[in-house]
Amino acid sequence: MTPATLAPYAVSETNTRGRAHHEPSPVARNEFQRDRDRIIHSTAFRRLEYKTQVFVNHEGDLFRTRLTHSLEVAQIARSIARALALNEDLAEAVALSHDLGHTPFGHAGQDALNACMKDHGGFEHNLQSLRTVDVLEERYGAFDGLNLTWETREGILKHCSLKNARELGDLGQRFIDRTQPSLEAQLTNLADEIAYNNHDVDDGLRSGLITLEQLLEVPIFARHAERVRERFPAIAGRRMIHETIRSMINTLVLDLINTTAEAINALQPKSIDDIRAAQPLAAFSEATRAQHLALKRFLHQNLYRHYRVLRMTNKAHRIITELFGAFMDDPRILPPQYQHMAEQDKPRAIADYIAGMTDRYAIGEHRRLFGVGEI
Ligand code: MG
Repeated sequence: MTPATLAPYAVSETNTRGRAHHEPSPVARNEFQRDRDRIIHSTAFRRLEYKTQVFVNHEGDLFRTRLTHSLEVAQIARSIARALALNEDLAEAVALSHDLGHTPFGHAGQDALNACMKDHGGFEHNLQSLRTVDVLEERYGAFDGLNLTWETREGILKHCSLKNARELGDLGQRFIDRTQPSLEAQLTNLADEIAYNNHDVDDGLRSGLITLEQLLEVPIFARHAERVRERFPAIAGRRMIHETIRSMINTLVLDLINTTAEAINALQPKSIDDIRAAQPLAAFSEATRAQHLALKRFLHQNLYRHYRVLRMTNKAHRIITELFGAFMDDPRILPPQYQHMAEQDKPRAIADYIAGMTDRYAIGEHRRLFGVGEI
């Protein structure tokens, strides 16, 4: 990536706001590749393999986890960034780190932990991703966290309450000013949506919790399934599903590229400041957005609220709440590192400990603390 191949409004090594702790420039890679590499080598990144997206990791070997989800987001975000002459390495770094702060058990875990932290400043998974790369990772001699570039950190923080934004200083300022992040951050956010809606269709069908018949009632799926049948009249089973999802992803990606390119063309931005001051430029066309939303709604009603998923949600809630309660009652049962942190801020140290757990670690820890006969 040389600056010459990047659009003037892309984030680059020349316009970056840099790192909180000054470091010499990297050799044989650029600053954003260094960010990506630090993320991949982090402990939090490895934990993503055992954290739930929708299905708990041990429910089956073929379902997405937070790790494979993050890789799919990175693939989609990079394609889009490259097509628009934006900073592909930054998009990749944001994609690979956007879910680092997720609790075990997906959104159920985050809701439970947020409820536990209600009187102690709350818990936001997005803010926790930032906290992970800024504070919690212990890898370098000179600083806490990964010391990522300002723009990768900006991209990680997709949303943020006003209260937290005020405490974040310059990184939170855009939520107060209502300005935009870089285009790389904007498009990676939409790449996240493309990835999870499509892979949840795949995982939902694979699990048997939703059926092909149900999905054929959803216009975007039906339209692409019909196209696939026109091309391959005898196609069936997994191939038919995969070709349909492939066609949907492709259409969404191209729509996002074209619509965003049109918006860029209309604005004629000269610099990253023009991007930040404008309305969000990365977007789907109106028609595609509506269809994509209908698919999202279908998944909400039929997959995320399926009774078998809700049983997991329920169990997750109980595990997280009981772990939090036990540690609050007696912080002496925390591992030493967190006991130490608890001396400063007990609830936050407990939330950090729980948020860092994988699904199976949380289940094991719950068994160790509450199981009769367990040690
Ligand atoms: Mg995500």
